[in-house]
Amino acid sequence: MTSILIVEDEKRISSFIEKGLSAAGYSPTVVDDGLAALDYVATGSFELVLLDVGLPGIDGFEVLTRLRARGETMPIIMLTARTSVDDTVTGLDGGANDYLPKPFKFDELMARIRLRLRESGQQSVAETVLRHGDIALDLTTRRVTVGTQTNDLSAREFALAEQFVRHPEQVLSREQLLSRVWGFDFDPGSNVVDVYVRYLRGKIGADRIETVRGMGYRLV
Ligand code: CA
Repeated sequence: MTSILIVEDEKRISSFIEKGLSAAGYSPTVVDDGLAALDYVATGSFELVLLDVGLPGIDGFEVLTRLRARGETMPIIMLTARTSVDDTVTGLDGGANDYLPKPFKFDELMARIRLRLRESGQQSVAETVLRHGDIALDLTTRRVTVGTQTNDLSAREFALAEQFVRHPEQVLSREQLLSRVWGFDFDPGSNVVDVYVRYLRGKIGADRIETVRGMGYRLV
């Protein structure tokens, strides 16, 4: 299982990322302080680091600089509320592999994590196709194949399909799907989940996703 270190001092964001990564089959660890992050990375047990810029103690740029100076080569994705060009340049110059401004959508974070892990050779080809029964979801091409029928999915349909295929036969609530696919800033009263489940049913077959009244949806 791929281990990811989340360096983030905002509990709301770190727990959102942590839950999402666990749900996606990764092994996440959260640390909320820059200096502690250096010690965690030194254990050698992390394949990728998500690094917030604004941290107590030393900031994310300083953590980045020290990690690279120490010869750490794992992919590092910077997270920040600041969206200035200067920060992006500082981060990339400092040896960050990617840069994601907050608020971000969880599926965008996932796509970047997969890309950076693939580049660093940490993610095997076998892990790029998810299967359940005759449904195959290709993480690289964003296509779904059901039996002999292949369809392209939009980014959002794909993220939703991924949640179902990773948790087959489990009831997933609207709230779970909303937070994992649409992100932490989405209006909980929105009916967007129902709308996208309908789109997805159109692509994988209406009978594949069951409505569990009052609870959510289940891939059967
Ligand atoms: Ca912060």
